[in-house]
Amino acid sequence: MRTPTSVMAWQNQPYLTKWELQELYDRCVDLAEETDNRYAPLVQMWRDKPHHYWNDIIQNKNGMMFPYMKDFNGDQRSAINGNIKGLFFGGGLDRRRKRPPYFSYFGDKRLLVNACVLFNESKNIYFADFYCHYQYHYATVVITNPGSTQDRFCQRHHLVKLDPFNNPLLFIDDNDYSVYVTLGVRVEVFITQKLNIFSVFNNGVGRLVRVQPRGRGRSHKNGIPKKAICNICNL
Ligand SMILES: [Zn+2]
Repeated sequence: MRTPTSVMAWQNQPYLTKWELQELYDRCVDLAEETDNRYAPLVQMWRDKPHHYWNDIIQNKNGMMFPYMKDFNGDQRSAINGNIKGLFFGGGLDRRRKRPPYFSYFGDKRLLVNACVLFNESKNIYFADFYCHYQYHYATVVITNPGSTQDRFCQRHHLVKLDPFNNPLLFIDDNDYSVYVTLGVRVEVFITQKLNIFSVFNNGVGRLVRVQPRGRGRSHKNGIPKKAICNICNL
């Protein structure tokens, strides 16, 4: 499999600096507040994939979802691209319905997992990227186990460390430990650990449902680069 030259070109660029990441974060927070300054409970996060992806996990992998290498979606100079393994979950609610989008660009089956299983007080959370696709702006956050390889990677590359209980994107309510998300940008969550879907089902903390596929119904091989034309999310 040849790597497209555009991907190789990105790989040669230096990573976003601490200052640039902070600037990207500030722009993301500004846009979120301008667009919609409300928050909504995020009861579940979701992962959309074609049915054959789930069949393979169930039939051949004993239910285990293994982290895979982050693609080149988003900012081409983000240090997490091609360097850190995880699993993407959606956390960006439809602003009007305050629910997950009813359709998906990534497949026809959706795994729903209770948000507090993936994000709770035992985790660290970092802001990694801000970009746009279609008509939406997205914030990428990385969730790690403190002290893990992935956690040390985030610190070494100056990702913006957020307070899990007090940040403008995705936070835990310190009264009842429920998770809240901004309605101003769509937050996508990169979980840096494996997850067994049989455990999820057996513990009653998630389920697999059908979702209406749209477009290609699968993700792009190397991800989609950030739209250079947008002056909101480009430095
Ligand atoms: Zn943009």
